[in-house]
Amino acid sequence: MPSLAQDNQYSIIKGVNIIDGRNKVFKNMDLQLRGSKIISIYESKKVAYPDSVKVLDLTGKFLIPGLIDTHVHLGQLDIITSPDRARKEFRRWLYSGVTSVREMSGDARLIAYEKRLISINQIPGPDIYYSVNFGSPDMTKKDIRRKKASMGIGVENASWFQEASETMNVPLSIARAKGTGAQGIKMYAGIDAVVIKQLTTEAHKQGLKSWSHFTVFPDRPIEVVKAGVDVVSHVWGAFWQDPDIDPSIRVPFTHTSFKDARAAIFPADLSVLNADDKEVSLLFDEMVRRKTIWDATYAVPSPKTRNLYKTYLIEASKKGVIISTGTDRHHDLSEPFPSVYDEIIALVSDDILSNEQAIEAATYNGALAIGIEANYGSIEEGKVANMVVLNNNPLEDIKALKSIILTIKNGMIYRRKDFR
Ligand SMILES: [Zn+2]
Repeated sequence: MPSLAQDNQYSIIKGVNIIDGRNKVFKNMDLQLRGSKIISIYESKKVAYPDSVKVLDLTGKFLIPGLIDTHVHLGQLDIITSPDRARKEFRRWLYSGVTSVREMSGDARLIAYEKRLISINQIPGPDIYYSVNFGSPDMTKKDIRRKKASMGIGVENASWFQEASETMNVPLSIARAKGTGAQGIKMYAGIDAVVIKQLTTEAHKQGLKSWSHFTVFPDRPIEVVKAGVDVVSHVWGAFWQDPDIDPSIRVPFTHTSFKDARAAIFPADLSVLNADDKEVSLLFDEMVRRKTIWDATYAVPSPKTRNLYKTYLIEASKKGVIISTGTDRHHDLSEPFPSVYDEIIALVSDDILSNEQAIEAATYNGALAIGIEANYGSIEEGKVANMVVLNNNPLEDIKALKSIILTIKNGMIYRRKDFR
């Protein structure tokens, strides 16, 4: 694949319409890049650039920041059983404009290996930011996925899966988490809010993000938010704020098999739920106040579930809760585009976000969730030029994402027509 500009050389992107990822649009602009960084952005000039400078003429095209999926799972199974299949997903992501992903749990040894190959351009893929999982002692013992992802050393020695309890050594646990090369910790289930707060405070002290399920059980989601976590995952977590149901009855919450996963996370009676309940409203207010990001994983295949989810997301969106685009699922490899396209398109077509907001959710908010917003997530001077070029305007029709022509990442150009 061709490089845009090697090392510290200059290059120019010419005549492009910028949708910057932060709700601003700039028409007919030039970008000056040095290596993989954006040095300056200015109105397109009708001047000839010197021959020594590489110019990429994108007159009339649309430029958005690289897309970010804030909830992926390759580390639990795919990377372990078939690195080849995982690499096909990496490739589809990159050629579809996805330049960063948040990997939610798995074998850190293998994830780190793939991350390295991607970062030195040995294989095509997005930058991978991964997590260390914390769960109840019961979960650590029983969860089938943990056994697979700690093969060779045993769950008790895998720093990427840790037991959370009131007697734990918090600074040591977080130091072990950091030692895996992870970007953040993830609260999964069976951890009370007091321990979540201790872990989160220490994680922040040691430079890690704190990520969590929206409801971790036994506590309600608002307690998780008040514990200071940066991101909460899944719409269903908000159900448990409803005063008519009680999350503490779900303890212990353990995935011993996937068959009963839905029964474990959904209340028994969904008809009691109200997205506009006063308590739910207070929860969203607290998220807005703390800038807690909702990694919604919205576009589930079941229309009934999605309809219920929708009522919660519309309430949250009205209040200004920050939403990021996580998927929690992977398309069959025969599909041309990855699942994050469904997520972005669904958020717009179901009237939860505007086109501009959905692009922000899939770019800048994703960078915020991962904690890389200083260098990624928007098209601004000084940031890394991870960007996507579209033929059509996604502000007119969000499906224009599928008119992708190329992805620019890490100073390299990946042409959609070279995909497959
Ligand atoms: Zn997940």
